Amino acid sequence: MPQWPRLPHPELAYDAGGAPASQHFNDIYFNPADGIAESEYVFLTGIGAPECWRNRQTFTIGETGFGTGLNFLLAWAMWKRTAPAGSVLNYIAVEGYPLDRDQLRTALQPFTDLSPLTNGLLDAYPVRHGGFHRLNFEDGRVTLTLLFGDVELMLNRLTGRIDTWFLDGFAPSRNPAMWSDAVLARIAGLSAPDAAFATFTAAGHVRRGLQAAGFSVSKTPGFGRKKERLVGRLDRQPIEPDPHWSTPPPSLATGSRIAVIGSGIAGSSAAYSLRTRGFDVTVFDDSGTPGGGMTGNPAVILSPKPPAEGSLAGRLNAVAFIDSIRRYEALHARTGDIWVGPRGVDALSTSPPAADRRARALAALGWPKSIACMVDDPALSPFPIARFAQSGCIDPVAACRALNPDVRAATVARIDETDAGWRLIDGDGRTVWSGDAVIVAAGAYSTRLAELAQTPLYTNRGQVSLIHPDSLPGVPENGFSFDGYLSPAVTVNGRTLRVLGSSFAGWRDLADRDWRTTSETDHDVCLNALHQAIARPRPMSVQPADLWAGLRAAPPDRAPLVGAVCNETEFLERYADLRNGKDPAANPPYREGLYILAGLGARGYQLGPLLGDVIADLIAGTPPALEKDVLEAINPARFLARGLKRGDSSFENDAAAE
Ligand code: SAM
Repeated sequence: MPQWPRLPHPELAYDAGGAPASQHFNDIYFNPADGIAESEYVFLTGIGAPECWRNRQTFTIGETGFGTGLNFLLAWAMWKRTAPAGSVLNYIAVEGYPLDRDQLRTALQPFTDLSPLTNGLLDAYPVRHGGFHRLNFEDGRVTLTLLFGDVELMLNRLTGRIDTWFLDGFAPSRNPAMWSDAVLARIAGLSAPDAAFATFTAAGHVRRGLQAAGFSVSKTPGFGRKKERLVGRLDRQPIEPDPHWSTPPPSLATGSRIAVIGSGIAGSSAAYSLRTRGFDVTVFDDSGTPGGGMTGNPAVILSPKPPAEGSLAGRLNAVAFIDSIRRYEALHARTGDIWVGPRGVDALSTSPPAADRRARALAALGWPKSIACMVDDPALSPFPIARFAQSGCIDPVAACRALNPDVRAATVARIDETDAGWRLIDGDGRTVWSGDAVIVAAGAYSTRLAELAQTPLYTNRGQVSLIHPDSLPGVPENGFSFDGYLSPAVTVNGRTLRVLGSSFAGWRDLADRDWRTTSETDHDVCLNALHQAIARPRPMSVQPADLWAGLRAAPPDRAPLVGAVCNETEFLERYADLRNGKDPAANPPYREGLYILAGLGARGYQLGPLLGDVIADLIAGTPPALEKDVLEAINPARFLARGLKRGDSSFENDAAAE
């Protein structure tokens, strides 16, 4: 099974009126005479919209065949007109041959009534990258999860429950793969109780396939000259997935009171995503300010590491990078203070083989040149450089503030579970909050606060130098990364500086809070790294305008810790048979209501916004923004499960997992 879903191009042809058709499948995307009327009739009327979502806080539509997005836009438009205030629409669509943005624009141009929504979709539409992409509209109250890849592979990677289905995958006679028994069975497997479906086809084998999968099926009149189409409902108990150590806990009711500990990018993102889903969120941080410990660091650079094929953490990093750019664009459009300095980031390599590896990794991703390409720039490096034109630097405090402006000052010393829920206790033993659930997003301190004694989180201190641009004459002005990174000149709070980072050293004693104290030695370390990277003799001295230090923490496999927290002792007992190669069919012993979002390491600002959605989906019980295998790779209990399978509890092998 390929790790990166390959994405063939759609091979479009257009009729005289500009309506698209697939040359490959010899079929149309929508009715060229009246696309809107047919789609509304077949799909929206077919599922019983808008009545089906009238009393629903959350409603989830699944679609096989996103195509031009017309069905999505029509569902969004109707939902916007008719849904209860504060409710959320989740739309999940599979697409194996994604159109690019220009093709989408051309196809949707005739539908002028939909223009505002179309423009929103075009702005957010992702690049061709196999896997899941989460797009948010209406302040997060409409989510679109695009599953780019073959239908069977993508549905097998999806978890959660779908309330209703649009089955729209070209005529079954021309595209049997979209209607195979395996696909229809998986559709039934993902269906919520009483889930509905609607489709334009009335083909006999589709009807029989849907019935065999557990749907009751009716033939109803088709649109225009089409005689019939099928609609129906799941006519059996929903299929429960086998219990597994990674099975998620029950969801929480909308409106539940949730505390987030940590106002950095992880906590701010979680707070933002949870609020859009209707939860009552309070963020705590000892700093009492958005961004927490980032105050004083004017810019972080978004420089992705193109992942090796086959690595789950790498797959997450790649999609999170694209996702973060999209989300910061949206935040910047609102606040104007997120991106700082000119756009574009170059990633330097230290040798020709290293540059070669990077080029191959980028080629495997298949991103368009507008996102990433290899270039030669002898002024910057003797070796080929990876250029990320849309990337750049963001002001970390501004980003956190835009996501969550209000932070309560408190140093949380303990999290207590009581009969009535959860309590946060400060260092003086005072209860500072009580409520239904807690998310620990406290960086290096997270596993300690969540009492995860057997879940490794290694902490490093990193120092950056803030340097006046004139102090670095001859150094290229753009932002670039090497073993460290140098930002372009950025202006934040009236100061124009370049940020040079970062030193890197283990910090073992978390009780020792002296990591904030900066040192000249670390400044020299950063300067040396810079001058080696760009092959220039080191200037005699560069006085920093300021220095800043922070902690970063990551597990040994460098994938973050995201999910619900288990009782470790009970987990080890319950799954002891993993040692003998048996998989006990049991649900995990959760400490219900306790979650962790930590271990983002040096890529917090790339990972955070997407992982905020992941934790919010988990808590709301809505289908996740990430694939099943990636979710397992970031599940906090993975170290316990791996240790049991290996028969030890050392984490050495986990370090090599990426
Ligand atoms: N609902 C779409 C719209 O609103 O524009 C039209 C969908 S079009 C009729 C069918 C879609 O299914 C095409 O976009 C096609 O690329 C996609 N498709 C076909 N075979 C597929 C497969 N095996 N896996 C995933 N998508 C597939």
